Amino acid sequence: MKLDAKIPKGPVAQKWTTYKAHQNLVNPANKLKLDVIVVGSGLAGAAAAASLGELGFNVLNFCIQDSPRRAHSIAAQGGINAAKNYPNDGDSIYRLYYDTIKGGDYRAREANVHRLAEVANDIIDQCVAQGVPFARDYGGLLDNRSFGGAQVSRTFYARGQTGQQLLLGAYSALSRQIEKGKVKMYTRREMLDLVIIDGKARGIIARNLVSGEIEKYAAHAVVIATGGYGNVFFLSTNAMGCNGSVAWQCYKRGAAFGNPCYVQIHPTCIPVSGDYQSKLTLMSESLRNDGRIWVPKNKEDAEAIRVGKLKPTQIKEEDRDYFLERRYPAFGNLVPRDVASRAAKERCDAGYGVGETGLAVYLDFASSIQRLGKHVIEERYGNLFQMYEKIVDNNPYETPMMIYPAIHYSMGGIWVDYELQTTIPGLFAAGEANFSDHGANRLGASALMQGLADGYFVLPYTIQNYLSAEIRTPRFSTDRPEFEETKKAVEARITKLLNIGGKHSVDYFQKKLGHIMWNKVGMGRTKEGLEEAIKEIKSVRKEFWNDVRVMGTAREFNPELEKALRCADHLELGELMARDALLREESCGGHFREEHQTPDGEALRHDDKFMYVSCWEYTGEDSEPIKHKEPLNYEEIVVAQRNYK
Ligand SMILES: Cc1cc2nc3c(=O)[nH]c(=O)nc-3n(C[C@H](O)[C@H](O)[C@H](O)COP(=O)(O)OP(=O)(O)OC[C@H]3O[C@@H](n4cnc5c(N)ncnc54)[C@H](O)[C@@H]3O)c2cc1C
Repeated sequence: MKLDAKIPKGPVAQKWTTYKAHQNLVNPANKLKLDVIVVGSGLAGAAAAASLGELGFNVLNFCIQDSPRRAHSIAAQGGINAAKNYPNDGDSIYRLYYDTIKGGDYRAREANVHRLAEVANDIIDQCVAQGVPFARDYGGLLDNRSFGGAQVSRTFYARGQTGQQLLLGAYSALSRQIEKGKVKMYTRREMLDLVIIDGKARGIIARNLVSGEIEKYAAHAVVIATGGYGNVFFLSTNAMGCNGSVAWQCYKRGAAFGNPCYVQIHPTCIPVSGDYQSKLTLMSESLRNDGRIWVPKNKEDAEAIRVGKLKPTQIKEEDRDYFLERRYPAFGNLVPRDVASRAAKERCDAGYGVGETGLAVYLDFASSIQRLGKHVIEERYGNLFQMYEKIVDNNPYETPMMIYPAIHYSMGGIWVDYELQTTIPGLFAAGEANFSDHGANRLGASALMQGLADGYFVLPYTIQNYLSAEIRTPRFSTDRPEFEETKKAVEARITKLLNIGGKHSVDYFQKKLGHIMWNKVGMGRTKEGLEEAIKEIKSVRKEFWNDVRVMGTAREFNPELEKALRCADHLELGELMARDALLREESCGGHFREEHQTPDGEALRHDDKFMYVSCWEYTGEDSEPIKHKEPLNYEEIVVAQRNYK
């Protein structure tokens, strides 16, 4: 496998300008002859499909929901970053780029991150032009709030519904292209494999989720924007439909998988309450602007709270441990997510946790309500407070919220070069699906920024560099043997799953996998734990293929079959995540190897050995994958131990 990141030459701040000045373009007449498949219509996919349609390409856009508006992006609450510096608090493109690299624990590609910081401001302008109702301050300027890992306020927001509003904007742009005939929308279609002809991505095989029909689609290039793989852990803040399947299919067809072990654990989620649960709910990071995180200072108080003998409001101020403010005075409650999550786990493991299970800490708004008034807090976070009360049946205006870390985002994903092209020519990946710009830890409000940057501002340029060499390639017929063979392989897999007729539901296996992943590939990882995880996942996989029971038939609406196909992929992907975590013998960002920590419990990197992206190559079902390395060179930024103190 050949890895070429294709980073343009020159100073980091000039690379994107240089690239755009020298890339090859496709002229308007030739664009009409070229087809692009975009799989996914969340923020990254919808932005890419709309922009490519606007440019004149013929776009085929796929999603599993009944409407692009239901993509998981709609769940994003807190906001989107950009370095506009409206509050005049010292922000700049450099600072956004620096914070992102540092936040990712110096494991992201410098050139990509700088480009991201550069185009972030354009996203805000684009979205405002679309009518996205960002919050405004008294003077009418767009308002900003703070997110973790930054000392400036650079997060643009629309109450606690930023993703929804941004998606409605992208959906409007997409709808315009659908109406013009430049984008053909295929809803309720699930991509099940990638078709390669002469080494290039030329199409996909998809299942019509309503009729069960297996369909073939051809194009000159394929863009994957299918989101993240947090649901490998079963319980996560991701929507139930989120899956790592498309990334996995591409990996098995030859695309390198980048940093599979980097997943993000978000500190502020509603704690797990029982075994029957299938979903976790996020309480947006924006709440850390005004909420203070604490646990009781005394173990006896924590115990009394756990058994219901004491209420949090009865704990005196001097008996509270605001542990983030204590440990990280410079950033306080706004340390990055990995740091905040580990600190909460440390307190709970030490016996100071609250809630019935002892696996929760408080997020308290009392002092902000006193300072600002209840109406201000309600204006800022009203919908989040309401959601919390509905789920937990506690009024967070009166008693502190209880929160605990949960799986939230995948920084790993399909490896892409500077052009967002994978190791398969003609296959591109955008948004959370690619291994992206966040290194080992993503800062809050940077996923929306990256997805929209990829879709609106990066791909429309870079894909042309590839397509300019395809203008003489005629359209492919889907009757070609490559399409037929791939379709047959998909059908055979479905038949195999339906014929097992075992005893257990798909959820039984996904849950089993999730337990292994959370306990051994989760917040704290060890060599022994990871070795055990690899063995255990293999054994669950074997059991799955012998004993899963998938009801219904192939040719009908069959959600159980959809889950089974995804679970089968997760059972393989989970193993690669554990393998990657095992070989990365250092701690960085969200990847915390307990053997590698500083005396005060912080992540301890080993830059001399691990300053690279792990890029995994598939070698077949029964053989071990090969690990390649993309070295990370920092030309502009001085690499240092992360410090938020
Ligand atoms: C609760 C929550 C809150 C968040 N809040 C924020 C925030 O405030 N700020 C921020 O920056 N980030 C936030 N994030 C992260 C952010 O929302 C996501 O990273 C981002 O929206 C992902 O966008 P995407 O377009 O890459 O993927 P998605 O929005 O997940 O879209 C994936 C698309 O792929 C399609 N798809 C998937 N599989 C297939 C298949 N096999 N075939 C066809 N189509 C397929 C889906 O139908 C969908 O259209 C939040 C995440 C969560 C879980």
